[in-house]
Parts: sequence; C-alpha cells; structure tokens
Amino acid sequence: MSESPRAVEPVPGYFQDEVVREIIGRYRVIWALNHASSLMAWDTETNMPRAASSYRGLAAAEIAALSRRLLLEPGFVELVEKAASREELTVYERGLIRVLQRAIRIARSIPEKIVWEMERLRPEALTAWREAKAKSDFSIFKPYLERIVELNRQVAEHLGYEGHPYNALLDLYEEGLTVDIMDRVFASILPHSRSVLDKVRSRGFYPERHELEEVSYDRAAMERVNRRILTALGYPWDRARLDVSAHPFTIALSIDDVRITTRYEGKDFRRTLMAVIHEFGHALYELQVDRNLAATPLQSGVSSGVHESQSRFWENIIGRSPYFARAIKGVLDEELGFTSRYDWIDIYRYFTIVRPDYIRVDADEVTYNFHIYVRYQLEKMLIGGEAKPGEARDLWNSLMEENLGIRPRNDSEGILQDIHWAMGSIGYFPTYTLGNVIAAQVRRAVEARVDNIWSRVEQLDFTPIREALRDLIHRWGATYPPAELVEKATGEPLNPEYFNEYLSWKYLELPTKLNS
Ligand code: MG
Repeated sequence: MSESPRAVEPVPGYFQDEVVREIIGRYRVIWALNHASSLMAWDTETNMPRAASSYRGLAAAEIAALSRRLLLEPGFVELVEKAASREELTVYERGLIRVLQRAIRIARSIPEKIVWEMERLRPEALTAWREAKAKSDFSIFKPYLERIVELNRQVAEHLGYEGHPYNALLDLYEEGLTVDIMDRVFASILPHSRSVLDKVRSRGFYPERHELEEVSYDRAAMERVNRRILTALGYPWDRARLDVSAHPFTIALSIDDVRITTRYEGKDFRRTLMAVIHEFGHALYELQVDRNLAATPLQSGVSSGVHESQSRFWENIIGRSPYFARAIKGVLDEELGFTSRYDWIDIYRYFTIVRPDYIRVDADEVTYNFHIYVRYQLEKMLIGGEAKPGEARDLWNSLMEENLGIRPRNDSEGILQDIHWAMGSIGYFPTYTLGNVIAAQVRRAVEARVDNIWSRVEQLDFTPIREALRDLIHRWGATYPPAELVEKATGEPLNPEYFNEYLSWKYLELPTKLNS
C-alpha cells in the first residue's frame, strides 16, 4: 500500500484514465528529484558556503542524470505513448501527456554526451565570465562563448527545426515560439516605443534621473517595507519565504513551498522593492496553480514567457502605477522616513524614471525591449552562423548604438553584463519581451473582470486581482500550451498592440491627468 499523503493522489475527475494514473504514480519519483534539486538550487544561492560549489555541482548533475534516465525508461515512455492513443481524455490528461511527450522528445534528442559537456563547461564558463566581467575584458570569456555557441548549435541540430535553427532553442524556453513570431512582435512594438521615448524625453514628466536614486536606506527598515508590501499583496507566509541572494529569483519546491529572494544594495530603494514585487508575481503563479495538479507534470507555470508576464504584471502594471505609489506612501514614510519629504506623485516619478542606459536589468518599460532586441539579433546571427562569437562584442556595441543611441564604454557594461550565456543558455532572452507583451494583454482581461480595479489598488485590496489571475491563468498550471493559454485567458491570440496601447496610456496620457 502506498503511504503517500492523500493530497497528492491522482484526483478523480481530473485524471480518470488508469494509464494516466499509473503515469502520475511513477512520475512522483521524478517530481521528488525535482523537489530536491530545487531545494539545492535555492540553498546554492542563499546559504551554501562558498567553497561548496564543485561538490554541489556534482550532486546536482547526478540527480539531473538520474531524473533523465527515469524519464526515458522504456516502461515509462511506453505508458505515455499508450495514454496518448486513448480517445477519451480530460483536458488535464491531454495536457499531462503533451508535457511528458515534449520532455521525452527533448531529453531523447539531445545526446547525453552534449548534456554532460555543457554541465562540465558551465562552472568553468561562469568563473571565466565573472573574471572577464570584473576586468571588463571580453577576450577572457570569448573561448567559452565559442564553445557554448557551438554546443547550442549542435543542440538545435539534434532537436530539429523548421526555418531558422534558432527556432529549436526558442522552443526550449517557450513552447512553439519562433523567429517569425518574435520578428512580428518586435516590428510592432519597437517603432512605437521609440516614438513614446522621444515624447517622454521632450515632455519631462517622467524624469531621466531622480535624487532618491542616491539616497541610502537602513537595511532592516527596508526589509520591513518589503515584508509589509508582500503581506499587503497577499503573500501567504505559511507557504512562502523571502530571503536574500545576489540576484533576485523565485523557486517553487511544491505548491505549498514557494520562495523568493531580493537584494539590499543600501541605496535607491526602488530596486529591492520592485524586485520583490516582480518575484511576488512569479511566486503567485506557482502558489495559485490548482491544488489537484500538485506533484504532477502540470504543477508549474507553463513557460518562461507566461511566467514573466505574471512578474511584469505585478512589477510594472501594478507596482509602477501612480495608484500603488499613493497606496504605499504611508508604509514608506513610517519605515524609511526620508520619503516623507516627497509627495506621492514624486515617488511615482521615481518609480518610473525613463532613461536609455547600458544595463538591461535596470531598464525602464519604454527602453527595456530594445535591450532584448540587441540580444535577440545577436543570438540569431550566432546560431544561424551569420556571425562568429569573436565578432560578438563589436556587434553588441553597434546594436546598442543603433537601438538605444548609446555605445557601451567597456565590456562589463556591454556584452558581459548578463549571466545567461555563461550558464549555457541561448534563446531565453526573447521570453522577457514576450512577458512584457503578454502582461499588457492580460491587463485588459483583468480590468474586464475586476470592477474599479485602480481604486482597489489605492486601498491595497488585491484579492480580486489575485483571483482574476488565478482563474484566467494560474490555476491551469501547464495544462495548455502557452499560446493557447494566452488566447484562452484574454479572448484573442498574442497581440503586441496591447503593449503599445499600454505605453501610450501610461507614458503619454496619464501625466496630463495626474497634473490636473
Ligand atoms: Mg522574472
């Protein structure tokens, strides 16, 4: 007899088919390994002694390899194929089979030799990247970038693709994403963003700089602010945590254990606060997945792009709204003190500084997608073989100049700023823009469901917004493929015009209302 807790037994109504129920039972071991490696990953970033990284890496690689073997076990694959041939399946059963077939296809296509080579290369590449960044010298990282590009090109060939080889890599992070889709998105949003940027800069309501960027805060006081804001947003402290790490992130161990982090730099308090609100958005997605999907392959958010849409929704659409700035002004004044010298509109303007700058993670909503376009163009050329890694730095600098009108003065504020390539991942960046675009489309769907949404925000009443996101998106977990989920949630396929409309409203129309 199984001793497993009842809450994670396959649920009748969701999973009726006996083959599917057997799959869920066997999958539980893979789920448990994921749980363990997520806990290890969290520990690596928050608590692990610095010298422990190589054995932690070894343990993580062994667990990943074991998990892959279990997924590809002939008996398990057979069960999945058998279930796929069934005719009467619930949407959850169909989703579960889709997710597993996709995972099996990906794991099978990429030879274990390449996986191991990537695993072995990663710690060395990260070390080289850190040194290169500290010395601002691309030449230290270049040989690793060459290797990483080559391995990713091989991965694309093994996975197979239609059209551009980059499509194979895009699909790894966002099921179904292609160069054609991203080209269409950028073609729609970049010209509009440029025109909004020009107007914002000439009108002056949204500042290029703000003196609060230089004001220091007390770390303990700032942590109290973050915790009070999280509580107001509805963060369930009995199922979730807030910790500190070098780079903010969210990790979900189970439906009842989701953890976010932030960092405290000692000044410019919006950075830690907005990071917290961003990660809250990721966490809420994982916390609001239908409980009946717990410990199954459907338990998590469906893709990087949809996940980022949830973090961006909370960070930008809610957190960087004037209504939110007004609502949290009291908390800021009580805990930080120095904010009481500013009125809430000034706090809002501090939250929404617009300035073409070098660093992507600090970019505002108007310029952010240009940063992604630079990386997207470069990755596409590298994977397509139209550019060599040795040329990447000069290409980066030219693309920055073309798109943002500024040329990096050195490599650390240029091509070496992001960790993604050193981690071995190529094809991830476009999901950030996709997230921005989906968030704007979701905003309309949420507004249609929540009466007086902005006066609710002003009263720090987020319950109806959380519920709307739960019903529209979160509860489904990975049941529907991302593009289908977006269409189901918003009533139409991905449409980047919503992002344009959002930028116009916020950056061109709203200032007139706030000034009057
Ligand atoms: Mg994010």
